Amino acid sequence: MANDFLPLATKGVQGLSPYQPGKPVAELERELGLKNIIKLASNENPLGPSPMATRVIAANLAGLARYPDGNGFGLRKKLAVKLGVAEEQITLGNGSNDILELIGRAFLMPGHEAIYSRHSFAVYPLVVQASGATAVVTTAKNWGNDLDAMLAAVSEATRLLFLANPNNPTGTWVDASSMQGFLEQLPENIIVVLDEAYFEYVTEPDYPDGLTLLKDFPNVIVTRTFSKAYGMAGLRVGYSISNNSIADILNRVRQPFNVNSLALAAAEAALDDVAFIEKSKKINQTGMAQLTNAFDKMGLSYIPSVANFVAVKAGQDSMALSATNVYEKLLRSGVIVRPVANYDMPDYLRITVGTEQENEKFIAALKQVLLSK
Ligand SMILES: *Cc1c(COP(=O)(O)O)cnc(C)c1O
Repeated sequence: MANDFLPLATKGVQGLSPYQPGKPVAELERELGLKNIIKLASNENPLGPSPMATRVIAANLAGLARYPDGNGFGLRKKLAVKLGVAEEQITLGNGSNDILELIGRAFLMPGHEAIYSRHSFAVYPLVVQASGATAVVTTAKNWGNDLDAMLAAVSEATRLLFLANPNNPTGTWVDASSMQGFLEQLPENIIVVLDEAYFEYVTEPDYPDGLTLLKDFPNVIVTRTFSKAYGMAGLRVGYSISNNSIADILNRVRQPFNVNSLALAAAEAALDDVAFIEKSKKINQTGMAQLTNAFDKMGLSYIPSVANFVAVKAGQDSMALSATNVYEKLLRSGVIVRPVANYDMPDYLRITVGTEQENEKFIAALKQVLLSK
């Protein structure tokens, strides 16, 4: 065994394979000898963060010797007012990913089962596996969550269910009445994680705001983040809204200072910049139309999305190119997108909506790649 300590790790950890993040732009530019690479791979806001957030960060630098407020008092208070919930219902995380981990640690152990759909967010399997619980992966319906399949998957051992609305990487969504009917049929002792990482982007009138479900369904935990529409993925701030009892449980497993002081201050400031979110939504809507119009013209099929990304079928047989080939050729022309083979979607690439110029550059590069096979 010498230097191999894996046999000493817990069973759950032995079976894990680490999350594969996209390569940073700077590293890729060095590798490929290119400049001005554009990254449309991680569903980040192409506008960056709100200037109100960056100003506050600069102003708070001198306080870095101090520990952050471990209760995140200011941010929780502000979120509570904005969302119309009690402060006690809010749990802050180092990104909403942290919250997903806390939920797994609090509610799962070997012998338990957790349900999530095929083609759903890659962090769910990691959380379940790490806890030693068993993942029950349901079939997808039109690429999205199949609520009937999820209900059918419930067993005595089920403790947790993950449902991203909208879902990443497909951009599919569940409407309000379907969600209501689903939660009514689900046993109330199963914790439902309603992952609303892309909440701010959705404009569909039938889209259910998870917060409205909390009163009737106290087993629901809504998770949201400052990483996507708020443009602060690098700072790592997310949160959940749940009933007080669940929030109290999550608080027991949370590290004391899980959100850093700059992130707390910046998130608070970002909440004031309503115009920034409106602008981000607008750019996303026009950018989404720009991308899907181009796909239509090129005869490429894609999964209709309500989020800030779209999965396009880039590896049709008729093109004699696999999606991986297309991904690699796009890289060499300076555009990073996201292959989603690890989501069981080997023919697709996920494209984050960028600025108009970024989208244009991507479309031009894609045309070039597909025509020059
Ligand atoms: C991006 C994303 C998250 C979490 O991101 P954080 O940066 O950890 O807040 C959670 N769920 C889904 C579905 C996502 O796409």
